[in-house]
Amino acid sequence: MENQEVRGRFAPSPSGRMHLGNVWAMLVAWLSVRKQGGTMILRMEDLDISRSKQVFADQIIEDLKWLGLTYEEGPDCGGAFAPYIQDQRRQYYENAMQQVREQGLLYPCYCSRKDLAAVRAPHRGENIGVYPGFCRGLTVDEQKIRAEKKKPATRFLMPDKEDCFQDLNYGLQCSDLKREVGDFILRRADGIHAYQLAVVVDDALMGVTEVVRGADLLSSTHRQRILYEALGYEPPVFGHVPLLVGRDGRRMSKRFQSLDLGQLKDGGWTPEELWGLLLFEAGFLDHEESITLQEAIEIFSWDLMKIEDLQIDLQHFER
Ligand code: GLU
Repeated sequence: MENQEVRGRFAPSPSGRMHLGNVWAMLVAWLSVRKQGGTMILRMEDLDISRSKQVFADQIIEDLKWLGLTYEEGPDCGGAFAPYIQDQRRQYYENAMQQVREQGLLYPCYCSRKDLAAVRAPHRGENIGVYPGFCRGLTVDEQKIRAEKKKPATRFLMPDKEDCFQDLNYGLQCSDLKREVGDFILRRADGIHAYQLAVVVDDALMGVTEVVRGADLLSSTHRQRILYEALGYEPPVFGHVPLLVGRDGRRMSKRFQSLDLGQLKDGGWTPEELWGLLLFEAGFLDHEESITLQEAIEIFSWDLMKIEDLQIDLQHFER
């Protein structure tokens, strides 16, 4: 890894206006890359066509500009690994599936699960469950009979081994893959590739060396690492950031409209005030003050980052 160029990314799903939680994860991804003099990429994760909208993608680009979170490669500025929009990269996901299929690691799955959950980034608290393997051992004849009634999803056959990695924030993470994670979907029955597959293919092909995102995706990392291995790519370094929660411990999400960037802007918040608030809550500052991104780069260090959720007082935002 020595002397390797650091490449990080923002990978938002354009399914709504950015909220403070997204901004927080992006801030840390940006600070970590900038601190190391690396390159930042913006990639739109719009595979789920029922939820993604162009207006949200445009808004994200505008919001990142307002925040000053710059990137060198992305949908609006291009780059050596274009396109930076998942909807335009489906052929890469098909090619990767073929590569895995040739290793005998895929099988059709006719189970009527809510396949939708697979393409959405699974977030902490959603019980993804371990697939019980009903379709794993079907014979070709059995598959034919089922195929007459239902289009199958495609599942990845999880190997029986342990996966361990060192998270930049949460330290050593290990999982008994077969028992704790299980076979997972790479392509839904409606043909849409799963987040787990697309994110790995894109990060690998775009040369991403560092993936920083919310702790809700920590448990997805084992699935992604095993795909890196199956596809013959070196996995990146992973760093997960604590989630924002209300004082009641409930997770902040798109439900909290007051924390979407439009509301925050209208409420008179400046980017510098937002950085000050977030970095204070995360333990980087001993009192809340406005801080520029340049100053934030200087004080940022993974060693100082909290692992507990960050409790944010919603009243703070009632301006
Ligand atoms: N697109 C995902 C989301 O917005 C993030 C994926 C990632 O950073 O790996 O939840």
